[in-house]
Amino acid sequence: MATNKKKILITESFSQKGRTLLSERDDIDMVEFPNMISAGDFEAMLTQHAPVHGVALGATRFGEPELAAAADMKVVTRIGVGYDAVDVPALSRRKVPLMVAGTANSPSVAEQAVFMMLTLAKRAAEMHAIVKDGTWGYRLGKLPYDLYGKTLLIIGFGRIGTRTAKRCLAMEMQVLVYDPYKPAAEIAAAGCEAVADLDAALSRADFVSIHCPKTPETVGLFNAARLKLMKPTAYLINTARGRIVDEPELIRALQEKRIAGAGLDVYWNEPPVTQDPSVPDELCQLDNVILAPHNGGATWDVRGRKAASVAQGMVAMMRGERPLALLNPEIYASG
Ligand code: NAD
Repeated sequence: MATNKKKILITESFSQKGRTLLSERDDIDMVEFPNMISAGDFEAMLTQHAPVHGVALGATRFGEPELAAAADMKVVTRIGVGYDAVDVPALSRRKVPLMVAGTANSPSVAEQAVFMMLTLAKRAAEMHAIVKDGTWGYRLGKLPYDLYGKTLLIIGFGRIGTRTAKRCLAMEMQVLVYDPYKPAAEIAAAGCEAVADLDAALSRADFVSIHCPKTPETVGLFNAARLKLMKPTAYLINTARGRIVDEPELIRALQEKRIAGAGLDVYWNEPPVTQDPSVPDELCQLDNVILAPHNGGATWDVRGRKAASVAQGMVAMMRGERPLALLNPEIYASG
């Protein structure tokens, strides 16, 4: 029997916040699919439930075969900000909008960069050990540093870079920005100094925080020569992508104390540590690093924000409104 209800397929990891928002509507039916579903099984599921009007994807691929199987797709959403697994031209040809979770994880990654700067400057691990190990007498021999008054160089002034700048300006740091694709006036308006010469800026920075994407231009951007331009007292923070930094060269610079330390959420290979525990990873042997398992953008709060923005976008589309964080706005062009 024909029904006015819209059917939405949601991946099993879609958070409760998003489910609640969608389940409050009596014109939406939700059907769950497994996170790790094969392409064939997903297509079969779409065919079985057709017509399917919306889909909230995790990492599942989505393109022409899935659109055909769904029969009446109105909106595709990614519960995240990346969309490499989605065939955007295929969606655009059929005038199906693709939504992402926008800036849901940007504040979290910016916080992680600041957390790493503070952890390193405040010598968190050493301070903790002094109290825990009863070596109180050493406390004035291991003085921490302040962020106040220091110079931060941000590489990439997008969603995360701008937020990192804002947080560091609040801590009274001087913020330099290297982003060849952003007008200097925009950077100045944010209270930062635009720098056109990365090499010259590196020798001024006490902290360098990477927030550009991994592209052919940025792979190996921090090579041996650039690492040598950093001050011996400077810290390098990378929460963007591992291959932007030449990792063996960084390890060498850290071992030889040519820079003060590094905070890393991302690695050349992930995970970075060999699966053989008898062969320890060089990075993990260093005492001047803080390491995280590529989860800067994966906090509890992000899960809720992503799901809420996906659910709100779905509802907007079902009402015939134009959603925010749209990846293919050209579908609304006339003609
Ligand atoms: P964004 O697209 O909003 O901003 C990227 C900025 O980098 C843009 O302003 C762009 O002009 C600039 N840029 C491009 N090429 C550059 C270059 N050669 N030199 C300097 N700047 C350059 O992206 P975003 O959302 O801010 O994300 C930034 C990075 O963080 C991405 O690589 C992303 O994959 C990564 N990220 C990591 C996590 C995590 O969990 N650690 C989570 C989300 C995003």
